[in-house]
Amino acid sequence: MTRRTPISVAYGDGIGPEIMKATLNIIQAAGANIEIETVEIGEKAYLRGVETGIEPSAWDSLRRTKVFLKAPITTPQGGGYKSLNVTTRKALGLYANVRPCISYHPFVRTRHPAMDVVIIRENEEDLYAGIEHRQTDQVYQCLKLITRPGSEKVIRYAFEYARANNRKKVTCFVKDNIMKLTDGLFHKIFDEIAKEYPDIVNETWIVDIGAAKLADTPENFDVIVMPNLYGDVLSDVAAQISGSVGLAGSANIGEQYAMFEAIHGSAPRRAGQNLANPSGLLLAAVMMLVHIGQSDVAARVHNAWLKTIEDGVHTYDIFKEGVSQQKVGTAEFAEAVIQRLGEVPKALKPVSYETPTPMSLWQKDEHHKKSEKRLVGVDVFLDWDLGSPNDLGDELSRITVGPLQLRVITNRGIKVWPNGLPETFCTDHWRCRFTGNEGEVVRALEVVELLRRVTEAGFDNIKTENLYLFDGKPGFSAVHG
Ligand code: NAD
Repeated sequence: MTRRTPISVAYGDGIGPEIMKATLNIIQAAGANIEIETVEIGEKAYLRGVETGIEPSAWDSLRRTKVFLKAPITTPQGGGYKSLNVTTRKALGLYANVRPCISYHPFVRTRHPAMDVVIIRENEEDLYAGIEHRQTDQVYQCLKLITRPGSEKVIRYAFEYARANNRKKVTCFVKDNIMKLTDGLFHKIFDEIAKEYPDIVNETWIVDIGAAKLADTPENFDVIVMPNLYGDVLSDVAAQISGSVGLAGSANIGEQYAMFEAIHGSAPRRAGQNLANPSGLLLAAVMMLVHIGQSDVAARVHNAWLKTIEDGVHTYDIFKEGVSQQKVGTAEFAEAVIQRLGEVPKALKPVSYETPTPMSLWQKDEHHKKSEKRLVGVDVFLDWDLGSPNDLGDELSRITVGPLQLRVITNRGIKVWPNGLPETFCTDHWRCRFTGNEGEVVRALEVVELLRRVTEAGFDNIKTENLYLFDGKPGFSAVHG
């Protein structure tokens, strides 16, 4: 027998221990060649004062095994507790969240019988970098960070996933008609990488109409890749409309680590009653088995599970009179799946996992030529409420340093000086753009001197953003209005 693959397992809180026990019973009965290291996370750790909810010993285990099967946990009420999911994703570099959303019509009710979509969500950056600031009395800001390596990793993973799972199309959702630089980069990288996969169809939708189409005709989509926020929202929508939010599992994939879990929470009200459906965690465990190269066991488990669903053996959450045959508890459901190991479904489509999905194919491009970067100006943000845009424009126009001169003032991105409209609503947050003449290079110390003079003139400078050209192209958005 080959060496058993060590995995870290957390039983979690609420219904967690019951569904984990059921899941492990099934995969071990199917022949999973694993060595389990149990780790403690969640409510007890939080209440012992571990603010991330993960005991240090759990990190040691995760570092050793690099594979984490995790039951849901309960985040205690009240402030001060950090999200365990966000902490693990970031600490372990789990850049891709993979969530298959599949309907099991006619055995589980759904309006979309042919739905079979996999959402692949970027998991580490975008608005989730957690960089927020209050800047004035009225205005708060959250930084949206989209990076080239972060986008390359998740988009390449989406195409590799499609290829390994015999899927035909990868769709990208972005909002690059508005966020031309950030979402624009994601779209551009999608187009670049898509060219390397001519066997897979690719398409891009603006996220709003894309989301509407996903909700209306999900059968037209196959794999969808998107930045973090859109993915967070739409993966829940997709799981819900497939009719099976309690049945969905997800994988969080990194370059070295991977974490597998159900998408639902710890359902504390159902805990300890042998009621909960273990299917979400079980399907996550199936993804884990594929990931650790035990594809044959994964397929055995998945097919036995499909057969169980098809035979109408259902837990309370999906039980429906007339469709279901037998209402069972968690342990009995697991037993029913174990009895069907070796069988394949007849009405639902059987699965096979021929190629293990590669962990990560992203490599740093050593030959990447850095762009030539030139400083051409600065956006100075002010907290100011002492007059009209023209008053502010008049005062700031008097301050010049070298080539730097005030060119435009915006409020919430709308131009208000020069020649603004009197109707434009203004807050106390002003962006004042200073540049030289078209493309003229500015010295960093000239920017520093400008800020000194602006401050000396009595203005409250809350932040600045330098304006650069990269290979001659603006690395900043143009002004509206
Ligand atoms: P929840 O998903 O735990 O429960 C929502 C509803 O779905 C409940 O009414 C429950 O009856 C039902 N349900 C969920 N899973 C089920 C299953 N396997 N079988 C049968 N029914 C099931 O969401 P919630 O009530 O908002 O959150 C409860 C706790 O879970 C909170 O402390 C929350 O922070 C936590 N949570 C954890 C995770 C995680 O660990 N990944 C994710 C979401 C929520």
